Amino acid sequence: QEFGEISIKDIDQVAKTSFPLCMRHLFEKVKEDHHLKHGGRMQLGLFLKGVGLKLDDALAFWKAEFAPKVSAERFDKEYAYNIRHNYGREGKRTDYTPYSCQKIISVTPGIGDHHGCPYRHFSEENLRAALVRMGVSSRAVEDVMDKVLNRHYQLACTLTFEAVHGSSCDAGINHPNQYFIDSQRVLQS
Ligand code: SF4
Repeated sequence: QEFGEISIKDIDQVAKTSFPLCMRHLFEKVKEDHHLKHGGRMQLGLFLKGVGLKLDDALAFWKAEFAPKVSAERFDKEYAYNIRHNYGREGKRTDYTPYSCQKIISVTPGIGDHHGCPYRHFSEENLRAALVRMGVSSRAVEDVMDKVLNRHYQLACTLTFEAVHGSSCDAGINHPNQYFIDSQRVLQS
């Protein structure tokens, strides 16, 4: 089964059901703050490309989310180039690939940054609250936190996947886009 494309109108729904926590967090932040710093735009933007959001929809998505803070003119001048660049339409025309878990886990987010892996970069309190919001049961939260304490961040994410989908994920999570595809597979089966 292929999940080749996703349109803007479906994005809120699939963000709730099928985005891993790192991307849910960025997605919620851009909706809340109407802005994301560069690291967050890259991490979420490339993920959305991998999910199947086409370039025109990506431009429309970011422009609409930023609109309360960024004029259309400024958006076109300061942000559109980078989005087209990620889609290989500018510069060296490299088609950039979405980041793997390993890459996301290894970054060091600065103050005001929302990218990175929540299992690694959130405080314990924030992580627990985020897991509860995702619908993870209190027992499963303890199992997830146990993995986090032992620095097994991808296993923590895998346990979260299993808890919210009620379905096992034997291969383990190693890429946010894999999380998405596996989730859609479970939900559509
Ligand atoms: Fe995202 Fe990977 Fe961290 Fe899960 S383990 S939250 S998919 S970076």
